[in-house]
Amino acid sequence: MRAAVYRGPRDIRIESVPEPADPRGGDVVIRVSRAAICGTDSSEWAHGPLLAQPPVVLGHEFVGEVVAAGPEATAVGVGDRVVCGAGIACGQCDWCHAGRTNLCAHYRTIGLHVDGGLAEYVSSPAGICLTVPHALTDDAAAIAQPLAVALHAVRRSRLRRGQSCAVIGVGGIGAFIVAAAAAAGASPLIALDIDEDRLATARTLGAATVIDARGRELDAAILKATGGEGADVVIEASGTAGAPAAATRAARRGGRVLIVGLQAAPRELDLLSLTVREVEISTTLAHVCDVDLPEALELLRSTELAPAVTDRVIALDALVAEGIEPLAGGTARGKIVVAP
Ligand SMILES: [Zn+2]
Ligand SMILES: [Zn+2]
Repeated sequence: MRAAVYRGPRDIRIESVPEPADPRGGDVVIRVSRAAICGTDSSEWAHGPLLAQPPVVLGHEFVGEVVAAGPEATAVGVGDRVVCGAGIACGQCDWCHAGRTNLCAHYRTIGLHVDGGLAEYVSSPAGICLTVPHALTDDAAAIAQPLAVALHAVRRSRLRRGQSCAVIGVGGIGAFIVAAAAAAGASPLIALDIDEDRLATARTLGAATVIDARGRELDAAILKATGGEGADVVIEASGTAGAPAAATRAARRGGRVLIVGLQAAPRELDLLSLTVREVEISTTLAHVCDVDLPEALELLRSTELAPAVTDRVIALDALVAEGIEPLAGGTARGKIVVAP
């Protein structure tokens, strides 16, 4: 079969590889209909390996039809159209028992550590797959996994209906966070970015106030948009150097800051200012499959989120030139979906 094999920095090859073996135990084999790519994939290509263990078939956001099932696969079966959560947890460790499967001591990700869905076929545990509602297209279902990551992030922020929320950086995962925060009832919902197209998308996804942050102080802009008080919840999704400190300054007294963006180096924060205002900082990682993936499918089914965030659908052979390179270069206008 044809697959996108990540071999190292600037080296992704579309090549022939063996099809997955007949599934054993609780595994299934899925014929992939759509696989989306994300910043993780382009970062691995541009300056990896970061998390990936090459050589590996990329692709952790995909939808397809189950074509073979192991004897213990019960969650889904042959003929089902499914999405996959991509994170494989052991089910045995303390974190798994506590329901925090994203923190599993033996966590592995399909498409980074084991072969993924940027291929004609992929193998997955049935237990992290979910049947797709008929009303949902493959193009839409392909982005269920990143939406689940955003829903988990908003859950971690403990945003409540009616609370103000500012999202810094609304490209990539940030756009999904805007959608998730809108669904959670953020009011007002404020989006900040340096790209007009992204801000336009954020408005479509439910941001009442969009702020072009070029040449502006992020914290001053958020304070102004919240009548000088700051936001109840500030979500930093840009990964830029100064954003965490700006986010803490822009949080309301007693408010919360959620760090989503991955920082390339340690950053300084004014802890005194946080302490005297009782501002909390928390972080988020991946998603909890059982909780977040069903909610992602429901949100995709009940809203026009997918068409709003999808840039284009490309062939597998065009993956690097029309998918990975535009993502790495910052010229992609939204989610890029691959039809293997
Ligand atoms: Zn992703
Ligand atoms: Zn575990």
